[in-house]
Amino acid sequence: MRTLWLRFYASLNDFLPTRWKQRTFKLGFLGSPTVRELLVQLNVPPPEVALILSDGRPVDFDYRPKEGERLSFYPIFYHLLPATPLHTLPSERPPRFLLDTHLGRLARYLRMLGFDAAHLSDPDPGDAALARQAGEDGRVLLTRDRRLLARKAVRYGYFVRATVPKAQLIEVLDRFDLHALVDPFSRCMCCNVPLEPADAEAVADRLPPDVRARYPVFYYCPACERIYWEGSHHARMQRLIHQVVRGHTS
Ligand SMILES: [Zn+2]
Repeated sequence: MRTLWLRFYASLNDFLPTRWKQRTFKLGFLGSPTVRELLVQLNVPPPEVALILSDGRPVDFDYRPKEGERLSFYPIFYHLLPATPLHTLPSERPPRFLLDTHLGRLARYLRMLGFDAAHLSDPDPGDAALARQAGEDGRVLLTRDRRLLARKAVRYGYFVRATVPKAQLIEVLDRFDLHALVDPFSRCMCCNVPLEPADAEAVADRLPPDVRARYPVFYYCPACERIYWEGSHHARMQRLIHQVVRGHTS
């Protein structure tokens, strides 16, 4: 009989008996099982595990622990992940999103805060195409449709719990730890395309005279050619940031 010391963090404790929750516990085992086999034996679903540390070093599901090792298990959405999650979320920060057709308002909010939030609604692409595109692009599919997330083509997906758009925005910022990555005035709210700096002279004839005089900096969307300046959406944007973004000081 060999011995391991195990510790499960945050929501992974949901799967453990009370005596093992929120503490390091001793597990005896025979043979040379992989970490995945140990998890299955403990009734902890491997897809909910984002990171496994063996004596502080990341290991994968096929790792076979040795006598006396200490293993720590972290779920996805754990905010202090010391390494890239195993397979359940894209490693890029911030992640890119694809929103289901009914989440148009959330898509616009995310873009307003600078996040890449693709949204196909006209015409409605249908579930199969949405799932395929999210998978091919490596985007996190955001939806309130659990059947959509069950499709095999979805690599990364998240079921949005909230029903009100502003609450949905806060939920996504929290779940994906995006508060510190907010970058307003960087993306077109209509097209999801990154904004580019515009030469004030070049766009002068498309601006009201008072705007031209008051604001020195302009951005434009290369897709729809809409021009943005700090006055145009600034107050609305600042209000939104104030309401939903934690730790934002501007
Ligand atoms: Zn645009």
